[in-house]
Amino acid sequence: MITLKSYLNGQWQAGEGDGASLVNPTTEEAVAHASTKGLDVKSALAFGRDKGGAALRAMSFAERGALLKSWSAALHEHREALIDISLDNGGTTRKGAKFDIDGATGTLMYYASLGKKLGDKKILVDGDAEQLTRSARFVGVHVRQPRRGVAVHINAFNFPMWGMFEKAACAILAGMPVFTKPGTSTALLAHRAVEILTEANLIPEGTLQFLCGSAGDLLDHLGEQDVLAFTGGASTGEMMRSHPNIIKHNVRVNIEADSLNAMVLGDASDETFATFLRHAETELTQKTGQKCTATRRIFVPEDRIDDVEAELKDIFASVKVGAPGAEGVHMGPLATANQLRDAKDGVAKLTESGAKVVFGEGADVTPVDAEKGKGYFFGPMLLRADDPASADAVHDIEVFGPVQTLMPYSSIDDVVGYVARGKGGLVCSLYTDDKEETADLLLGLAPFHGRLLLASEKVADTTITPGMALPSCLHGGPGRAGGGEELGGERGMHFYMQRTAVQGDRSVLERLYGMRD
Ligand code: NAP
Repeated sequence: MITLKSYLNGQWQAGEGDGASLVNPTTEEAVAHASTKGLDVKSALAFGRDKGGAALRAMSFAERGALLKSWSAALHEHREALIDISLDNGGTTRKGAKFDIDGATGTLMYYASLGKKLGDKKILVDGDAEQLTRSARFVGVHVRQPRRGVAVHINAFNFPMWGMFEKAACAILAGMPVFTKPGTSTALLAHRAVEILTEANLIPEGTLQFLCGSAGDLLDHLGEQDVLAFTGGASTGEMMRSHPNIIKHNVRVNIEADSLNAMVLGDASDETFATFLRHAETELTQKTGQKCTATRRIFVPEDRIDDVEAELKDIFASVKVGAPGAEGVHMGPLATANQLRDAKDGVAKLTESGAKVVFGEGADVTPVDAEKGKGYFFGPMLLRADDPASADAVHDIEVFGPVQTLMPYSSIDDVVGYVARGKGGLVCSLYTDDKEETADLLLGLAPFHGRLLLASEKVADTTITPGMALPSCLHGGPGRAGGGEELGGERGMHFYMQRTAVQGDRSVLERLYGMRD
């Protein structure tokens, strides 16, 4: 059995005792254990602030970008071994594993290129110099410099690689050292990734530290210059935001939480309708529906609901559930016993609220190539709620698995109102070729979302799926989704930097901040 250590103060260190067990969700066999008991998190944070912060601030954006590029290349070299770990400890298919692993290396590369573009500078300038008084000489300039603390990252179980490196890429490029903690249940992959970087000697002292297992008293040790970026459940996020030490020191917090992402079918051509069906399938099956961006609610015009139901049932009937490495399997198990329990409970709540199951057996599915009675398998389920106005739970409970609820709408105002009942989402995707409808939907839905995807006929063969978070576009959403923002190119770096308005002599400031040659 593997004992997972933490990488703190420049060394791999084991906690006391066995700690938590990590299992293979296909067989339920333990694959590793991880403990953080007795580890000195406080001194590791100080080490990061001191050594890691100094090392990064000494580098230009281009040099930090080169560091990220070296991480991406080293991880990519071990891609096959990382995929195997994802199958074993995450229950993902090879495709699902690649989505996570290539997402991580791709995001690192994106920020490496941005670093190269930003060049030899170490400070970001926000806008032009503004004249402040009658004299053209006295101006104000807004600049961003890296905070002097540690960027503490706490991640969810579902993206052990992407989750860790999409956050780290922004922080490192901004110039802040990272202290990262994966979701414990699937931490084997994140652990191996950090190990690859230490083996290749690619972590300048203190710039990336890794806590593998329970967070313990981590939040008690954060200070004014530190930041906390969290991804996970809404209730855990709420606890973090209201933690007394976080409040006391006004620690800057970014939260990425739950989301009841919706798809809206409008006046769609055949080609756009085909895109809609393809996206519904991907968002159901990819990572067994365990994506924060996966579609949970599908709204269609009321006169099309029977057709759409029939089409989706056909598609879902061909989804093969089973051992992730087995031939032809589209969907592996859920990641943990708790996820399986929550998915069953969630579906029960949706049906109590008025939705009915029109397809699927959920936990009663018979998986391919897996031992009977073992594993956290859950087959695709389609629910239908004919009265979205009264089915409260459908807009309130995120079933974190392969479950979607189909609902009818009769007007654009209706559907905007229904989608908004999700109380803030990461993404909503629209499938229409009608210009007026497009404008009304975009205007109505944008305030409730961090991202909108418009899949129309002209982009049918180039559109991404709604669940794909790209480094160049914002990831996050208002309200229930956590109220946070990550990625989005340079925008994602701003969280890690202090913006300061500097007022003074134009010639001094413009020269200092590289605003003139
Ligand atoms: P979770 O139970 O909230 O855990 C998330 C992280 O918080 C884990 O690393 C967990 O550590 C840690 N944690 C829990 N209690 C803590 C405490 N008291 N102090 C410090 N850290 C603590 O969520 P999850 O089950 O891993 O993830 C599923 C949820 O994440 C879903 O609701 C999904 O929607 C959401 N999610 C959102 C996004 C997004 O970008 N918006 C992305 C992915 C997932 P342990 O693992 O050690 O308990």
